[in-house]
Amino acid sequence: MSKGRVLIVEDNMDTYELVHFILEKNGYETFLAMNGRDGVNATQKQKPDLIIMDLSMPEMDGWTATALIKRNKKTSAIPLIALTAHALPGDRQRAFDAGCNEYITKPMDLDELVEAVDYWMVRQ
Ligand SMILES: [Mg+2]
Repeated sequence: MSKGRVLIVEDNMDTYELVHFILEKNGYETFLAMNGRDGVNATQKQKPDLIIMDLSMPEMDGWTATALIKRNKKTSAIPLIALTAHALPGDRQRAFDAGCNEYITKPMDLDELVEAVDYWMVRQ
């Protein structure tokens, strides 16, 4: 039985494959959305237990998708971890302002990522 269902919103397939691999190895079930708009739709339809959100994506960026998910009462309680290469001053604060629960920068430490997922999964 899986430890939980994680939606990975990511437009870079190498990053997706890595996150998918490490989470499945640690007992999670994952599914993919390739841009912010699909991420918002998948969140509403599939009700994941946790969301990992890239920030820089086509169609709709991760800040906007996060804000839409967190403003919707039906999805606002789902924990959301921003995962991004953005390290500019202000990007982190913008992500927290949009409602993300945790912010992890790329290149990511896989242990840190799994710890963050374990932490937030039990706090939903
Ligand atoms: Mg991206």
